[in-house]
Amino acid sequence: MMQGETRTRLIVFTAPSGAGKTTIVRHLIKEFSALSFSVSATNRPAREHEVDGRDYHFLSTEAFLEKVHNKEFLEWEEVYEGQYYGTLKSEVADILDTGKHVIFDIDVRGATAIKSFYGDQCMVVFIRPPSFTTLVKRLKARATDTDASLERRIARMKEEMTYEDKFDRILINDLLAVALQEAELMVEEFLGIKSVTEEE
Ligand code: 5GP
Repeated sequence: MMQGETRTRLIVFTAPSGAGKTTIVRHLIKEFSALSFSVSATNRPAREHEVDGRDYHFLSTEAFLEKVHNKEFLEWEEVYEGQYYGTLKSEVADILDTGKHVIFDIDVRGATAIKSFYGDQCMVVFIRPPSFTTLVKRLKARATDTDASLERRIARMKEEMTYEDKFDRILINDLLAVALQEAELMVEEFLGIKSVTEEE
Protein backbone atom coordinates (compact mmCIF):
# COMPACT_ATOMS: atom_id res chain seq x y z
CA MET A 1 0.00 0.00 0.00
CA MET A 2 1.29 3.48 -0.80
CA GLN A 3 2.15 5.81 2.06
CA GLY A 4 -0.90 7.77 3.11
CA GLU A 5 -3.25 5.71 0.96
CA THR A 6 -6.29 4.58 2.84
CA ARG A 7 -8.00 1.35 1.99
CA THR A 8 -10.81 1.67 4.48
CA ARG A 9 -14.15 2.18 2.77
CA LEU A 10 -17.68 3.17 3.62
CA ILE A 11 -20.78 1.28 2.56
CA VAL A 12 -24.19 2.86 2.93
CA PHE A 13 -27.45 0.95 2.68
CA THR A 14 -30.36 3.25 2.18
CA ALA A 15 -34.00 2.89 1.16
CA PRO A 16 -37.47 4.24 1.53
CA SER A 17 -38.68 3.25 5.00
CA GLY A 18 -40.02 -0.29 5.09
CA ALA A 19 -37.76 -1.62 2.33
CA GLY A 20 -35.95 -3.97 4.72
CA LYS A 21 -32.51 -2.44 4.98
CA THR A 22 -31.93 -3.22 8.65
CA THR A 23 -32.27 -6.98 7.99
CA ILE A 24 -29.78 -6.74 5.14
CA VAL A 25 -27.25 -4.66 7.09
CA ARG A 26 -27.45 -7.02 10.12
CA HIS A 27 -26.80 -9.98 7.83
CA LEU A 28 -23.74 -8.33 6.27
CA ILE A 29 -22.21 -7.53 9.66
CA LYS A 30 -22.45 -11.21 10.57
CA GLU A 31 -20.92 -12.28 7.26
CA PHE A 32 -18.06 -9.80 7.05
CA SER A 33 -15.82 -9.41 10.09
CA ALA A 34 -14.08 -6.46 8.36
CA LEU A 35 -17.28 -4.40 8.59
CA SER A 36 -18.26 -2.31 11.58
CA PHE A 37 -21.71 -0.77 12.00
CA SER A 38 -21.96 3.00 12.36
CA VAL A 39 -24.23 3.42 15.39
CA SER A 40 -26.33 6.53 14.79
CA ALA A 41 -27.63 8.89 17.44
CA THR A 42 -31.37 9.52 17.80
CA ASN A 43 -33.79 11.17 20.17
CA ARG A 44 -36.52 8.59 19.55
CA PRO A 45 -37.24 6.21 22.42
CA ALA A 46 -35.59 2.78 22.33
CA ARG A 47 -37.84 -0.05 21.14
CA GLU A 48 -38.02 -3.34 22.97
CA HIS A 49 -34.81 -5.36 22.39
CA GLU A 50 -32.87 -2.28 21.31
CA VAL A 51 -29.68 -1.65 23.25
CA ASP A 52 -28.14 1.77 23.82
CA GLY A 53 -24.75 1.98 22.10
CA ARG A 54 -25.46 -1.08 19.93
CA ASP A 55 -28.57 -0.17 17.93
CA TYR A 56 -28.43 3.59 18.50
CA HIS A 57 -26.94 6.10 20.87
CA PHE A 58 -30.23 7.13 22.49
CA LEU A 59 -30.16 10.80 23.46
CA SER A 60 -32.61 13.29 24.89
CA THR A 61 -33.81 15.94 22.42
CA GLU A 62 -31.73 18.54 24.30
CA ALA A 63 -28.57 16.43 24.14
CA PHE A 64 -29.13 15.75 20.42
CA LEU A 65 -29.64 19.43 19.59
CA GLU A 66 -26.61 20.39 21.62
CA LYS A 67 -24.49 18.06 19.49
CA VAL A 68 -26.01 19.67 16.39
CA HIS A 69 -25.04 23.06 17.79
CA ASN A 70 -21.50 21.85 18.53
CA LYS A 71 -21.17 20.48 14.96
CA GLU A 72 -20.57 16.94 16.19
CA PHE A 73 -22.57 15.38 13.35
CA LEU A 74 -21.31 14.40 9.92
CA GLU A 75 -24.96 14.54 8.85
CA TRP A 76 -28.27 14.61 10.66
CA GLU A 77 -31.95 14.67 9.65
CA GLU A 78 -35.38 15.09 11.14
CA VAL A 79 -36.47 11.80 9.55
CA TYR A 80 -39.94 11.91 11.10
CA GLU A 81 -41.63 14.83 12.78
CA GLY A 82 -39.75 15.59 15.99
CA GLN A 83 -37.52 12.52 15.52
CA TYR A 84 -33.88 13.25 14.81
CA TYR A 85 -31.24 10.85 13.56
CA GLY A 86 -27.61 11.56 12.86
CA THR A 87 -24.15 10.15 12.23
CA LEU A 88 -21.59 11.35 14.76
CA LYS A 89 -18.20 12.36 13.34
CA SER A 90 -16.54 10.56 16.26
CA GLU A 91 -18.37 7.30 15.45
CA VAL A 92 -17.01 7.13 11.90
CA ALA A 93 -13.52 8.34 12.90
CA ASP A 94 -13.27 5.69 15.65
CA ILE A 95 -14.20 2.89 13.25
CA LEU A 96 -11.83 4.08 10.52
CA ASP A 97 -9.05 4.27 13.16
CA THR A 98 -9.46 0.56 13.84
CA GLY A 99 -8.82 -0.14 10.14
CA LYS A 100 -12.32 -1.55 9.61
CA HIS A 101 -14.77 -0.58 6.90
CA VAL A 102 -17.89 1.30 7.97
CA ILE A 103 -21.42 0.18 7.14
CA PHE A 104 -24.40 2.52 7.55
CA ASP A 105 -28.18 2.09 7.68
CA ILE A 106 -29.44 5.62 7.06
CA ASP A 107 -32.14 7.48 5.18
CA VAL A 108 -31.74 8.74 1.60
CA ARG A 109 -30.79 12.29 2.54
CA GLY A 110 -28.13 11.12 4.98
CA ALA A 111 -26.81 8.75 2.29
CA THR A 112 -26.49 11.65 -0.15
CA ALA A 113 -24.49 13.61 2.44
CA ILE A 114 -22.09 10.73 3.23
CA LYS A 115 -21.53 10.11 -0.49
CA SER A 116 -20.70 13.75 -1.10
CA PHE A 117 -18.10 13.70 1.74
CA TYR A 118 -16.42 10.44 0.78
CA GLY A 119 -16.90 10.13 -3.00
CA ASP A 120 -15.29 6.98 -4.44
CA GLN A 121 -14.28 5.75 -0.99
CA CYS A 122 -17.99 5.20 -0.44
CA MET A 123 -20.55 2.91 -2.11
CA VAL A 124 -24.23 3.70 -1.65
CA VAL A 125 -26.68 0.86 -2.25
CA PHE A 126 -30.30 1.86 -2.69
CA ILE A 127 -32.69 -0.91 -1.70
CA ARG A 128 -35.73 -0.90 -3.93
CA PRO A 129 -38.83 -2.58 -2.56
CA PRO A 130 -40.65 -4.74 -5.12
CA SER A 131 -43.47 -2.21 -5.45
CA PHE A 132 -44.96 0.83 -3.83
CA THR A 133 -48.03 -1.21 -2.87
CA THR A 134 -45.86 -3.74 -1.03
CA LEU A 135 -44.18 -0.93 0.83
CA VAL A 136 -47.48 0.55 1.96
CA LYS A 137 -48.67 -2.92 3.04
CA ARG A 138 -45.51 -3.45 5.11
CA LEU A 139 -45.91 -0.07 6.70
CA LYS A 140 -49.57 -0.75 7.56
CA ALA A 141 -48.68 -4.18 8.94
CA ARG A 142 -46.44 -2.51 11.49
CA ALA A 143 -49.62 -0.73 12.65
CA THR A 144 -47.75 1.66 14.90
CA ASP A 145 -49.02 4.78 13.17
CA THR A 146 -52.12 6.93 13.36
CA ASP A 147 -53.84 7.65 10.01
CA ALA A 148 -52.29 11.12 9.78
CA SER A 149 -48.84 9.85 10.56
CA LEU A 150 -49.30 7.01 8.04
CA GLU A 151 -50.25 9.57 5.37
CA ARG A 152 -47.08 11.52 6.11
CA ARG A 153 -44.93 8.38 5.92
CA ILE A 154 -46.51 7.40 2.60
CA ALA A 155 -45.85 10.87 1.17
CA ARG A 156 -42.29 10.63 2.37
CA MET A 157 -41.79 7.17 0.86
CA LYS A 158 -43.00 8.44 -2.52
CA GLU A 159 -40.39 11.16 -2.43
CA GLU A 160 -37.67 8.82 -1.17
CA MET A 161 -38.24 6.47 -4.10
CA THR A 162 -37.22 9.25 -6.50
CA TYR A 163 -33.67 9.15 -5.08
CA GLU A 164 -32.59 5.82 -6.54
CA ASP A 165 -30.83 7.28 -9.61
CA LYS A 166 -28.47 9.24 -7.39
CA PHE A 167 -26.79 6.17 -5.90
CA ASP A 168 -24.12 3.65 -6.97
CA ARG A 169 -26.06 0.39 -6.89
CA ILE A 170 -29.69 -0.72 -6.73
CA LEU A 171 -30.70 -3.84 -4.84
CA ILE A 172 -34.22 -5.20 -5.31
CA ASN A 173 -35.60 -6.62 -2.10
CA ASP A 174 -38.26 -9.00 -3.37
CA LEU A 175 -37.13 -12.42 -2.16
CA LEU A 176 -35.05 -11.81 0.94
CA ALA A 177 -32.66 -14.76 0.40
CA VAL A 178 -31.80 -13.47 -3.07
CA ALA A 179 -31.38 -9.90 -1.83
CA LEU A 180 -29.01 -11.06 0.93
CA GLN A 181 -26.85 -12.91 -1.58
CA GLU A 182 -26.73 -9.96 -3.94
CA ALA A 183 -25.84 -7.63 -1.10
CA GLU A 184 -22.93 -9.95 -0.18
CA LEU A 185 -21.67 -9.91 -3.76
CA MET A 186 -21.80 -6.11 -3.88
CA VAL A 187 -19.75 -5.87 -0.68
CA GLU A 188 -17.23 -8.50 -1.87
CA GLU A 189 -16.78 -6.67 -5.14
CA PHE A 190 -16.40 -3.24 -3.55
CA LEU A 191 -14.01 -4.34 -0.81
CA GLY A 192 -12.24 -7.06 -2.77
CA ILE A 193 -12.78 -9.56 0.08
CA LYS A 194 -14.79 -12.70 0.74
CA SER A 195 -17.43 -13.19 3.43
CA VAL A 196 -16.59 -15.13 6.61
CA THR A 197 -18.65 -18.16 5.53
CA GLU A 198 -16.81 -18.43 2.23
CA GLU A 199 -13.44 -18.17 3.94
CA GLU A 200 -14.16 -21.16 6.19
P1 5GP B 1 -35.89 3.60 12.79
O1 5GP B 1 -36.50 4.57 13.74
O2 5GP B 1 -36.91 2.71 12.14
O3 5GP B 1 -34.76 2.81 13.41
O4 5GP B 1 -35.20 4.44 11.61
C1 5GP B 1 -35.93 5.36 10.89
C2 5GP B 1 -35.14 5.84 9.70
O5 5GP B 1 -34.02 6.64 10.12
C3 5GP B 1 -34.54 4.73 8.87
O6 5GP B 1 -34.76 5.05 7.49
C4 5GP B 1 -33.07 4.78 9.21
O7 5GP B 1 -32.27 4.27 8.15
C5 5GP B 1 -32.88 6.26 9.38
N1 5GP B 1 -31.63 6.59 10.10
C6 5GP B 1 -31.08 5.88 11.11
N2 5GP B 1 -29.94 6.45 11.51
C7 5GP B 1 -29.75 7.55 10.73
C8 5GP B 1 -28.72 8.55 10.65
O8 5GP B 1 -27.73 8.56 11.37
N3 5GP B 1 -28.89 9.52 9.73
C9 5GP B 1 -29.95 9.56 8.90
N4 5GP B 1 -29.99 10.55 8.00
N5 5GP B 1 -30.93 8.64 8.93
C10 5GP B 1 -30.84 7.64 9.84
